[in-house]
Amino acid sequence: MSLLSIRDLTVHHGLLRAVDGVSLELERGEVLAVIGANGAGKSTLLRALAGLNTPTSGTVHLAGRDITRSPAHQRVSAGIALVPEGRRLFRSLTVEENLLTGTYRKRTGPWSLRRVYELFPWMTERRRQNAAQLSGGEQQAVAIGRALLTNPDLLLVDELSLGLAPVIVRRIYETLPEIVAAGTTALVVEQDVSQALRVADRVHCLLEGRSVLAGRPAELTAEQVEHAYFGIG
Ligand code: ATP
Repeated sequence: MSLLSIRDLTVHHGLLRAVDGVSLELERGEVLAVIGANGAGKSTLLRALAGLNTPTSGTVHLAGRDITRSPAHQRVSAGIALVPEGRRLFRSLTVEENLLTGTYRKRTGPWSLRRVYELFPWMTERRRQNAAQLSGGEQQAVAIGRALLTNPDLLLVDELSLGLAPVIVRRIYETLPEIVAAGTTALVVEQDVSQALRVADRVHCLLEGRSVLAGRPAELTAEQVEHAYFGIG
């Protein structure tokens, strides 16, 4: 059984169909990248999975359970964690205090504060600094650590690399295999297509809310991806 199964999902913002009949399956242990241009509907899709946008139609199943209408807090308990666009850390709290906000729902699993510090060793020394003192990329890593501390089965990361320094983006992506090996499946929204093709087991390209291309990076040609991304042809 797939960990995540999305069938014909449509999400409106007013009259606009931001997500238009998207179907996709995500198996345990996979990294799926959702790519697409600005406004393609990537964030809306992720927010619908996290329970922050309400679908107009379609279904979402997590490990066989219908969660289409579950509120956001129940999805955290069910095993979904979202790293939102812009990270949304508490800027006046320390790194460690921000991480600990991920522990309030006591799902059991591999992730502990110690394990997150092992994943991002530089965080240990900076754990007493305010989040506001970190670079954008470092904040992204803290937001991922916070999400991991909910011990999710499914980690959703919105715009992982957008606006961040390449060095820290690379370091974050280097942790993905370890995150997946610990039993956490990842769905990453990535605007940097070459990055997405490098790290993902499979990619889905959205165009104006529709899923227009899906496959394993090795099976897709650069031309196919470019056409899907820009809506050519
Ligand atoms: P971006 O990379 O710019 O975040 P995206 O692929 O994540 O793009 P969405 O943010 O999901 O796309 O937006 C999809 C469409 O829905 C866009 O046309 C956007 O303007 C619109 N939209 C997004 N959020 C809202 C909202 N809260 N109210 C109205 N329209 C919205």
